[in-house]
Formats: sequence, C-alpha cells, structure tokens
Amino acid sequence: MSEPFILCDGLVKIFQVAELEMVALRELNLSIEKGELVGIIGSSGSGKSTLMNILGGLDRPSAGRVRVDNHDLLKMTDTDLNRYRREKVGFVWQQSARNLVPYLNAINNVMLPMTLAGVTGSEKSKRAEQLLDLVGLAARKKHYLPELSGGEQQRVAIAVALANNPTLLLADEPTGEVDTATAAHIYDTFRTLTSEMHITTLIVSHDPGIAKQVGRVVGIRDGMLASETIRQQRSAVPELDLNGDAVLSENGTGLHEEPQEHYEELVVVDRAGRLHIPHEYLEQFHIKGRAQVEVTEDGILIRPTRQDRVEAEIAKPSTATTAAEEEISGPRSIWDRFGLKRGKK
Ligand code: ADP
Ligand code: MG
Repeated sequence: MSEPFILCDGLVKIFQVAELEMVALRELNLSIEKGELVGIIGSSGSGKSTLMNILGGLDRPSAGRVRVDNHDLLKMTDTDLNRYRREKVGFVWQQSARNLVPYLNAINNVMLPMTLAGVTGSEKSKRAEQLLDLVGLAARKKHYLPELSGGEQQRVAIAVALANNPTLLLADEPTGEVDTATAAHIYDTFRTLTSEMHITTLIVSHDPGIAKQVGRVVGIRDGMLASETIRQQRSAVPELDLNGDAVLSENGTGLHEEPQEHYEELVVVDRAGRLHIPHEYLEQFHIKGRAQVEVTEDGILIRPTRQDRVEAEIAKPSTATTAAEEEISGPRSIWDRFGLKRGKK
C-alpha cells in the first residue's frame, strides 16, 4: 500500500514560553489521502492551528513523524522547507486582511503570488482570470476589497491561495467571520476546487455544519486526534438489531430503500490500541487513571475499577448524570463533547 498524502505519526509540538513548556500537539496521528476534503474541528486551544502551521511548513514539529506528499517536514532543511511552503501549499486565513492586499483589486491580488514566483506575461493574467472564474468571481475581478463582501473576499483569498498551483490547500477558520449562508457558499467553492484542481484540502472550523460540507471531519482534542465523523449513505449499511442481525426492511434486503445520509461519530483508535475517551464520559463513570476492560460478546466494555466504584458510591449523592437524565437530554454528541454549538439542521 502506498503512503497516504499526509501522514502524521506521533506528532509532538512543544512551545517553550519562558520557563514553561506548552504541549500543543501530543502524539497526534492522522492520515489523509490525496484528493480528500477534510474538516478539522476542536475547541479553542486544541492544537488545530499548530497542526496547520506544521503541515504548511510555517513551523516545525518537536518530535514524531510528519510527511506530506513524500516530503519529510521534520528532516527538511530550512531552504527546502521554504520552497515546500512556496510551491506546494496554499493558505487561506480567517481574516481577509491576512490573505489580501487592500490597495490591489481582485485580479491583481491573485497575480501577486505569481509575480513573486517569477511568472510573467499573459500567462499570469490568464491564470488569474481562470481562478477567479472558478471561485465564481469573474465579474468582480476589477473590484477592490471594500467593494467586495466578506464571503467574496474569502473567495478571492482562495484564488490567491491557488495561484501557484499548490497540491495542498490549508484553510484556518475561513468561515469564522461570515454568516451561515456565506459559509455554505465558501465550502461549496472548496469542494468544487478540491475535485477540479486535484488538490487535497484541510479546513479548520468551529462550525459543526461542516460535517455536511466535507467528506470527513476529524476532531482534535488536547493536541490529539480524538474522533472522526464520517458521512455515510444509510442504504450502504444494513441496520443491525441488538444481536447484530440485519433488520429486514420491507423489501427483505435489510437495506433502506431511500438512500439517506447520516453521520457516524467514531472514536479514533491508533495503531498502538490507544483511544481517546471524552473527559465527560470518564467523569460520569468515575474512571480515574485505570479502568477495567472486559471482552463481551458485542465488543469491549470499559468500566471503572472496583475501588473507584466503591469510592463513587460513598461520595454520593453525586452530580453524575443518571440514565434517566441522559434519556431526557439525549446522547451526547461530538459537538457537545468538543464544546461546540450544534448548527442549524
Ligand atoms: P487552536 O488553533 O485549536 O485554537 P492552537 O494550535 O493555536 O489552537 O494552540 C494550541 C495550544 O498551543 C494553545 O494552548 C496555545 O496557547 C499554544 N500555542 C500556540 N502557538 C503558540 C506559540 N507560538 N507560543 C506558545 N504557545 C502557543
Ligand atoms: Mg486556531
């Protein structure tokens, strides 16, 4: 099997601030195939931007492995890393001010990175026009930033990011400053470009609605990959009853007749068998430091140790959520666990 386009293996990033060491990424594992459009979610401070900066060659990891398109970003020389960033990566930031030059119009903004890369002549303007056309702004090419809406500015920014034909497009909260409808339009643009330009795109977002816009969402928590949400067609997976037998539908196939999209939340299990259990679950079941792991017929059951159970019992009445309360509030979803607000359905 060939190597994935992006491979992070035990990626560690430690920031040294005066005497303090701040661990931003703690052994993060991630693999992304060429051509994927992936959303990255996680609460503030979870390490999303740190990851983007490392993948984009703006910062170096402290330890672990990180490879993009067969480039080893840890071992590369500074010169090679600079070239990698210039030639292979396009960035879109949250603030359009960081993406665009205010005193240049749209097309001149798109041509600027090409000028810096030494592209000359009519090729430059032709390509800039094509890119503005791809992001749906051909008619606005002569407009200056104040004449463009926030969403339009971000789409110009996407064209700028693609000016030098990168293979990797990194967007750090590109929809952070626009409304939901505009965000949907921006995601649309990312989706079209990812497939038409054969690039790989990572979008960091606070917006849970992103699950509907991309093929896959990975959740980062405490500097580690903690969950994945995968969009599936219901019809592709037979519904199982408690015994694991397919529930027969009217047509007797066990498959739903109407293909229906649903989102399955999965906890990531790394190659060493480690998985990240949300803190809330650990607190709810009083699991501290150690747990009992039992193999059952259906899977693996993780339970508090006998001693932790006894201690929890003594400490009652506790604030733990009871089964009845859980039923009322519904099962906790990925968005709750990541401290994010659920988007409009
Ligand atoms: P996110 O983008 O998910 O909000 P970041 O990657 O920006 O998170 O930050 C992860 C953690 O690393 C935070 O605790 C942040 O304070 C710390 N951090 C990020 N960049 C630096 C830096 N340059 N110096 C020191 N600490 C940093
Ligand atoms: Mg950030």
